[in-house]
Amino acid sequence: MSIDADVLLPWFDRYGRELPWREPECTAWGVLVSEIMLQQTPVARVRPIWIEWLSRWPLPSSLAAASHGEVLRAWGKLGYPRRALRLHAAATAIAGEHDDVVPSDVDTLLALPGIGAYTARAVAAFAYGRRAPVVDTNVRRVVARAVHGAGDAGPPSTTRDLADVEAFLPAENARAARFSAALMELGALVCAARAPRCPECPIADRCAWQRAGKPAYAGPPKQVQRFAGTDRQVRGLLLDVLRGTDAPVDRPALDIVWSQAGQRDRCLDSLLVDGLVEQTVDGRFALPGEH
Ligand code: SF4
Repeated sequence: MSIDADVLLPWFDRYGRELPWREPECTAWGVLVSEIMLQQTPVARVRPIWIEWLSRWPLPSSLAAASHGEVLRAWGKLGYPRRALRLHAAATAIAGEHDDVVPSDVDTLLALPGIGAYTARAVAAFAYGRRAPVVDTNVRRVVARAVHGAGDAGPPSTTRDLADVEAFLPAENARAARFSAALMELGALVCAARAPRCPECPIADRCAWQRAGKPAYAGPPKQVQRFAGTDRQVRGLLLDVLRGTDAPVDRPALDIVWSQAGQRDRCLDSLLVDGLVEQTVDGRFALPGEH
C-alpha cells in the first residue's frame, strides 16, 4: 500500500493553504525560520511573528547580529523559546561559514547547530525542491493510517519513519518536494488526530485504515500534552516578566508569578541553565545580554 501522488498532488493544488513561506519569492532563510517556528506552534500564531521576523531580519546575518535578548523578545509567545536561540545559532553559522546562504543539502544542513532530522529535510525539500522525506507528526499519522492501516502512529523512530516515507516519495525532485508538502497538509487539514474527515479525503478509497474497518489504535498510550500547571507554563510566565522590562529585575518580581516556590525555583534554574535568563553580579535577573 502506498499513497498515490497523482491523487494527492491535485488535491493539494486545490486545497493547500496559501502561506507566506510557501510563496515562490520566499527565501530559503524564510523557509528555515518558518520550519523552526512551526515545529511546536500552530500556523495562525506563527504567521504574524514570522512576517515580523523576516522584515526585521531578512538574512541570517541580520539575525546573527541581534542579541539573544532581542531574539527572545521577538519570539513573543510562540512557546518553547529555546528554539529562538537555536535559530540564532544556526543563523550565526550560516552567516559565518556559508556566505549567508542557507545550505541546500541535507548533510550540510544537519551539521548546523540546532538543525535536526526534520528541519534539515524540510528546508532541502521546501526551499530547494529536493527529494527528501519530510516526516512530522502529521505525516507519521497519515502514513500509519493510509499505508499501515493503524489508527494512529506508534512511538517515533527517525530511521524507520524516514525509510517508510522515502519508499513512496515520487522519484523526481520537485514532485517529491511538493508531495511532502501535500502529505503534511493532508495530515493538518483532513487526517486530523482526533477526528479524521475521511469523507473529504482524496485518498480515502485506498486508505488501509478505512479498508480494514477503522480498527482502534492498539499501540502504546499517547502522551497527552497539557499546559496548565506545567514547568513550561511557569517558565513562560517568568520569561514574560523579563520581556516586559528593559532593566534587570529583583527576585520578588519573578516570585509573584507562581506561588509554588519549589516549582518556580526549578523553572528559574532551568532557564538559567538553558541560557534563556542570566543573573547579574548583584543577583538580579535579565534576558541574556541585557545587563
Ligand atoms: S481516509 Fe481518513 S484515515 Fe485515511 S488518510 Fe484519509 S483522512 Fe486519514
